[in-house]
Amino acid sequence: MKKWEANIRKVTPYVPGEQPKRLDVIKLNTNENPYPPSPKVTEALRRMTAEPMRKYPDPEARQLVEAIAREEGVRPEQIFVGVGSDDVLAMIFLTFFNSKKPVLFPDITYSFYDVWADMLRIPYEQQPLNDAFEIECSDYEKENGGVIFPNPNAPTGALLGLSAIEDILVHNQDVIVVVDEAYIDFGGMTCTGLLDKYENLIVVKTFSKSRSMAGMRIGYAIAGEELIGYLNDVKYSFNSYTMNQAAILLGTAAAEDHAYFEETRQKIIATREQAKKELAALGFSFADSQANFLFVTHKEVSAAELFAALKEQGIYVRYFKKPRIDNYLRITIGTDQEMERLYAFLRGYLEKR
Ligand code: PMP
Repeated sequence: MKKWEANIRKVTPYVPGEQPKRLDVIKLNTNENPYPPSPKVTEALRRMTAEPMRKYPDPEARQLVEAIAREEGVRPEQIFVGVGSDDVLAMIFLTFFNSKKPVLFPDITYSFYDVWADMLRIPYEQQPLNDAFEIECSDYEKENGGVIFPNPNAPTGALLGLSAIEDILVHNQDVIVVVDEAYIDFGGMTCTGLLDKYENLIVVKTFSKSRSMAGMRIGYAIAGEELIGYLNDVKYSFNSYTMNQAAILLGTAAAEDHAYFEETRQKIIATREQAKKELAALGFSFADSQANFLFVTHKEVSAAELFAALKEQGIYVRYFKKPRIDNYLRITIGTDQEMERLYAFLRGYLEKR
């Protein structure tokens, strides 16, 4: 070993879902929205010119922050924006999880949490989901250095109700509690209504799913002014200009088109409810997802086999080769037409076996 190797921060990185080069793929593997961004985003894009790119963007991304604040019904001082919610969450881990006590999160959850914790040397303890793949609130009543979970959870899609979330908050008033609401617009109730009551709560949301803008990389945190202030201090100690001008302008246009947001999220909810019926009829079982994906297992055929057969057919879904979930597939809800292709293939495949 070379001497300098001892001083390298060696990490096991997060592995994102595949972004295939082929264009003829039915892409149900990374929870993107199958519908395009709002037409207002396209209009704003047409109006954009290159000239302002000469200058640095507004470090406060004030225009975007104000549009999000209006949409969320909070003050702009309660919003922190970042390059996707991954950036926001990484900043949150860095800013708020500095205890020697372990941060708590589920064993089956967004697989970036343990990566950030390992990278930043934050101790953590994963709490097992119950057999129905639900969070047990009582697991979060022990001493800890912070709590984080997605709601609905990923990759299960299972939703915690507001009273369960409040129960976790009541038992964790001395630490920061982060609720990652990446998928909340597809059926759940946001817990932002609890922000006034619990000053240690941070809610994280993203434009990647319900606003169809994964490629633009916009995410945000909503919390009390004090916590947002700490997040900004860390951000400005790291990189002042996280949000580029295009993200600020186009994100603002998306945030201002509430009608389109409502229309597309309702379409996805309807397709998901239909998918539950179709997949159940084909012999799959799953938690009652309130997200834009279903986490399914088949009574006879292994997930690994189905994953390979679907991929061969150009239908990409997500398969995690991990303890407890290695016989499950996470299927993103696409358009009705895409889902029909999925059902038709599965019907044929399962019949032929
Ligand atoms: N949280 C959860 C639970 C997710 O599944 C994702 C998407 N991979 C993210 C956060 C991050 O999404 P983004 O960085 O695109 O906002």
